[in-house]
Amino acid sequence: MKNTIAIVGRPNVGKSTLFNRLVGHRKAIMDNQSGVTRDRHYGYGEWIGKHFTVIDTGGYVHGSDDVFEEGIRRQVKLAIDEADVVLFMVDVDAGMHGLDEEFANVLRRYQGKKPIYLVGNKADTNARAHAAGEFYALGVGDGDIFTISSQSGSGTGDLLDAVVSHF
Ligand code: GDP
Ligand code: MG
Repeated sequence: MKNTIAIVGRPNVGKSTLFNRLVGHRKAIMDNQSGVTRDRHYGYGEWIGKHFTVIDTGGYVHGSDDVFEEGIRRQVKLAIDEADVVLFMVDVDAGMHGLDEEFANVLRRYQGKKPIYLVGNKADTNARAHAAGEFYALGVGDGDIFTISSQSGSGTGDLLDAVVSHF
């Protein structure tokens, strides 16, 4: 698929909330090749005239998030394999979490091969947006961290401008 964005990150950071905001409609793609394909949702969206596919990863294997190392590797690998741009989402309200570091360790290997943007979600206030600075320590992501609120939509326009520049 052309122009594909994948959202990865630990459970509860807001991946599905952003997915729902980005997509106009969803389409479940049935792929009977392997069970692995069941752990993502696809949707289609558009920004400044550019059409794209969004993949929401995680949370669909046996109805719960698989946060074991194998689950993280699989989530990152499918994102890297299928996406043109990867959004690595963290929660700036909760702050750094051990699982963020585990995702970062896997993602770092792909740095430079695909654009990876670090997205600090739940930056509902300026204070929270400033707190996002701690995530630079993860050492993943091209350029500055994008601070957004998936709930209100603030910051998502700047993020999309950067993302669709690759399409
Ligand atoms: P996922 O597990 O990464 O897909 O996370 P979800 O999209 O399911 O969101 C987890 C929780 O965070 C839900 O209760 C959301 O309503 C909440 N949430 C998502 N985005 C935001 C945000 O920008 N601000 C705040 N305050 N809460 C958010
Ligand atoms: Mg989810």
